[in-house]
Amino acid sequence: MKAASGTVVTMHYTLSDDHGAVLDSSRGAEPLTYLHGHGNIVPGLEQALEGKQAGHKSQVTVAPADGYGEINPQAIFEAPKAHFPPEVNLAAGQRVYAEGPNGPITLTVVRLTDTGAVLDANHPLAGKTLHFDIEITEIRQATEEELSHGHVHGAGGHHHD
Ligand code: ZN
Repeated sequence: MKAASGTVVTMHYTLSDDHGAVLDSSRGAEPLTYLHGHGNIVPGLEQALEGKQAGHKSQVTVAPADGYGEINPQAIFEAPKAHFPPEVNLAAGQRVYAEGPNGPITLTVVRLTDTGAVLDANHPLAGKTLHFDIEITEIRQATEEELSHGHVHGAGGHHHD
């Protein structure tokens, strides 16, 4: 079976940056399982896997525009101290959570200022070229329920209460 919209792909992956530093990997852990063709992985990787079969191994380079997007300078801004709960001890590099216009968002504290903190709402991998080393281990047809939900159920997938 080939990876196509409506199939469930299971794969191992290692994600590295331009310097070869490993950012994330499924090696030594459970492989990643996702519903192909539904935007559950970055577009550049999904396109590269289209039509591939179990056993396929490759190295895929994904430009920022096809990955987590370019860095949006407007998403880096200063927030006053009053916007943070008083019990929070802010530190550079810390992730904080806020309610965005389209649901919860994660921000990174860039640095502290005298009056608050500079926050970055860009994805941590925005602006980065992604280097994937992938191995497809299994491909199956998605169930009707998975297709209607737009994600995978069961091992490696979504669990509903
Ligand atoms: Zn579901």
